[in-house]
Amino acid sequence: MTSDCILSIIVPVKDEEQAVAPFVERVSEVLKDIPELARGHYEILFVDDGSDDATLDAIRQAHAGDRHVRAVSFSRNFGKEAALTAGLEHARGQAVVPMDVDLQDPPEVLPQMIEKWRAGFEIVYGVRSDRASDSLPKRLTADLYYRAHNWLSNDKIPVHAGDFRLLDRKVVDAILRMPERNRFMKGMFAWAGFRQTSVPYSRPARASGSSKFNYWKLWTFALDGITSSSTVPLRVWSYLGGLVALFALAYAIFIAVRTVAFGNDVPGYASLMVSVLFLGGLQLLSLGVLGEYVGRILTETKARPLYIIREQIGEDD
Ligand code: UDP
Ligand code: MG
Repeated sequence: MTSDCILSIIVPVKDEEQAVAPFVERVSEVLKDIPELARGHYEILFVDDGSDDATLDAIRQAHAGDRHVRAVSFSRNFGKEAALTAGLEHARGQAVVPMDVDLQDPPEVLPQMIEKWRAGFEIVYGVRSDRASDSLPKRLTADLYYRAHNWLSNDKIPVHAGDFRLLDRKVVDAILRMPERNRFMKGMFAWAGFRQTSVPYSRPARASGSSKFNYWKLWTFALDGITSSSTVPLRVWSYLGGLVALFALAYAIFIAVRTVAFGNDVPGYASLMVSVLFLGGLQLLSLGVLGEYVGRILTETKARPLYIIREQIGEDD
């Protein structure tokens, strides 16, 4: 199974004890029906992202029953993007597919992905044909985010494609050569290029447990996405500053002319207050944006490892 592994399924898990066994069962069922994988040329690689419950025991049990199951386990919670990176680093397959353990990425799509891969595509991403399983606010904010991202960034990310996608070994190796600490995977795939295609699927509701992403986490994730793929938010302040300065100049000329023509009648306090507050607000905002980028430069220069592994399961099978 080491070098002749064709397909690696990588599965980040955080507190998902009830989800592990059903996942392995459903996925194995699908994979066994794919002729070239039938002889066992696949692996299911869990990345335990610092779970506090019995997730690791569930994985150990699954490994005892099925040697295709392997795992790396983190020393604490490092986040899904770090877990995905660990998965890519430890996967042995010629093709790699990240999947959520909650069965929201239907395994039944895998045969179609493999077919497209065999036809020569290097990235086959799953696109949600409907997001009926997501709440309305989540759908709206997701939509808004994709628009904002693709407007601001040169690396256009495919709309409504999650992390569920098949990656050829070439793509995996390219991703692993990217040294950045802020790992916004969707943007990295977009930047890497390669021959891409998509397969549609409808996203079911979570099989068990509850989502690990609240709105604050998603907002932070969105900020990471934009700041790691675009410098437009930095540049926009030069233009805005230029515009305000131009306006101020015109206003100064207007006041000068008016004073010469009509004398000085001590003009209003309101306009003064408004412009002071407005400019103060703009300056704080632009400082904040600068701070976002500086903070990220700090994490990049510290160059800490992306994750720490406490233990591995099945590494020498
Ligand atoms: N996950 C993870 N680390 C985290 C949060 C989530 O590895 O810090 C995993 C989680 O166990 C699941 C996947 O990422 O397998 C997707 O999480 P979830 O289903 O909660 O996200 P949603 O589908 O709501 O976007
Ligand atoms: Mg989910």
